[in-house]
Amino acid sequence: MSTITVTFPDNTTAELPSGTASGKALQSRIAAAPGTPGSLIAARVDGRLTDLTTPLTADCRIEGVGFDSPEGRDVFRHSSSHILAEAVADLFPGAKFAIGPAIEEGFYYDFDVEKPFTPEDLERIEKRMAEIIKANTPFVRSEMARDEALSSFRGKGELYKAELIEAIHDPTVSIYRQGGFTDLCRGPHITSTGKIKAFKLLSVAGAYWRGDEKNRMLQRIYGTSFPDKAALETYLHRIEEAKKRDHRKIGKELDLFSFADEVGPGLVLWHPKGALLRYIVEEFERREHLARGYQMVFGPRILREELWRRSGHYDNYRENMYFTEIDEQRYGIKPMNCLSHMMIYKSHRRSYRDLPLRYFELGTVNRHEKSGVLHGLTRVREFTQDDAHIICTPEQLQGEIAGVLGFIKDVMGLFGFAFTLELSTRPEKSIGSDADWDLATGALREALAGGGFAFAINEGDGAFYGPKIDIKLQDAIGRSWQCATVQCDFTLPERFDLTYIAADGQPKRPVMIHRVVLGSIERFIAVLIEHFAGAFPFWLAPVQVAVLTITSAQDQYGREVAARLRAAGHRVEEDLRNEKIGYKIREAQLQKVPFMAILGAREQAEGRVAVRRREQGDVGTLSLEEFIGLLNEQGGQRTVTVA
Ligand SMILES: [Zn+2]
Ligand SMILES: [Zn+2]
Repeated sequence: MSTITVTFPDNTTAELPSGTASGKALQSRIAAAPGTPGSLIAARVDGRLTDLTTPLTADCRIEGVGFDSPEGRDVFRHSSSHILAEAVADLFPGAKFAIGPAIEEGFYYDFDVEKPFTPEDLERIEKRMAEIIKANTPFVRSEMARDEALSSFRGKGELYKAELIEAIHDPTVSIYRQGGFTDLCRGPHITSTGKIKAFKLLSVAGAYWRGDEKNRMLQRIYGTSFPDKAALETYLHRIEEAKKRDHRKIGKELDLFSFADEVGPGLVLWHPKGALLRYIVEEFERREHLARGYQMVFGPRILREELWRRSGHYDNYRENMYFTEIDEQRYGIKPMNCLSHMMIYKSHRRSYRDLPLRYFELGTVNRHEKSGVLHGLTRVREFTQDDAHIICTPEQLQGEIAGVLGFIKDVMGLFGFAFTLELSTRPEKSIGSDADWDLATGALREALAGGGFAFAINEGDGAFYGPKIDIKLQDAIGRSWQCATVQCDFTLPERFDLTYIAADGQPKRPVMIHRVVLGSIERFIAVLIEHFAGAFPFWLAPVQVAVLTITSAQDQYGREVAARLRAAGHRVEEDLRNEKIGYKIREAQLQKVPFMAILGAREQAEGRVAVRRREQGDVGTLSLEEFIGLLNEQGGQRTVTVA
């Protein structure tokens, strides 16, 4: 029997009989694989993800893939979806099968069934899945001629699978079988069903075949799975917590914002308290940007279509844009703020002495998102970005990026978010010279290193027009949210012929940085709501103090107290309703107001207020002056800049 040379990640090698399964090869070098052999999920052979049962037939490099990697989790969860499908096949004869991919934190499978699944159905399916897992049946891969597979699935009435095969142009397709269930699948899969140590079906929802509402509505069952029970428990606890913090629910409870069918999907109505919260965030941003040498600008919401053609948006982004026509002239409604900023730059002749220029705009943009992906404030069709464009010389690039990173770090720290950074480098399809890419990527890298930031590299994941840094913040329950980005751009300065006169008197091309710190204000407020579970810190709370009167005899005193607090710069709401004080307190507590000032006959007589704090409850009575002093200590206006 011939032997092959298998190379492990630590560059050690082994001579193994040809045909050795990849999993077996990895087990011979446990130390070289992540985790123990039991936790191996798949193998990467010469860069390609494969089953642990795949025979190795040539010299190769091999690496173990465990649950600790995104690919490993995907294989694990996707295998779980096959088990779900097998259970549905067993329990619902006549069900037809569409697709069952892994998703961010679990998996789903789409089924065509006569009537929607009920919660009782999900319980039965879970029970059947547990049996399938207990039986520990192997996943077996086989190949079939495409046409044979097509007629086989058609013959079984599996029209969705047949449609999927029709789109495949390879002569053969792969099939995976576990127990009595066979599925068209590229793989790879776990070795056997018993590897799934913990799983849970989470929900069921209608979903159109291929996401197209002209197609038939299928039933999508969502679930998740883990290699151990503790991890599942932690996850379930977290989604429970996430449900409680859902910004759509809290937004309604705190009366921050709403959506209305009559207005249109994905279009936010900001109610007074939500608008105030937004104002506080935006004011904070304006001050911070001015303090860091940015200049505020504004551009129009609609710009001529020709300009969008010139920028490349018309060719590359048109389907996400809205257009309108005025006086027989076509206009594009802006999905981005860059163009006006460049036109402002071009309104003067610029010298190297003018640079860098940092144009900041709280720019409202419209982007057409499919109705299926709209979600509360996080995915909307109109939103405002804290957008800035820095136009600088190539020599200034690194310093400018360092400034942006420092800015982001300060702001994240102020809101209490930890964050991670990723540098995305040149993709295969890209424009610009090697020198430009090297300069920009080098500048991003140096700025990251110089700022002492740890960062991951996404090789080849940059935009086609330049490399970028993505910043993901972590909220109170450990979820990541993409907010800030810093992006270098070579194309737009070229397309808009931006120039500056260099020290040698020659016109030169500046570099442009697109950057946002919070990103979409709508989305960031959603993150704030969920992070704080609606209990905003004092400086962000739209209502900082609720003034509550015990009887109507204190109404006048209540108004006076509220006026004094407002005059001291605090945001106050009076509750002079003829309701029991216990009821008013409970309501203010539910509204998560940081301070309550409770006024009865004694407080009025003594010119004092009984103070309750959101976290501590009753903290005794204070004179009005003392109370204002206490509020002032909370810091009404936050700033991270050094004065
Ligand atoms: Zn599969
Ligand atoms: Zn831009």
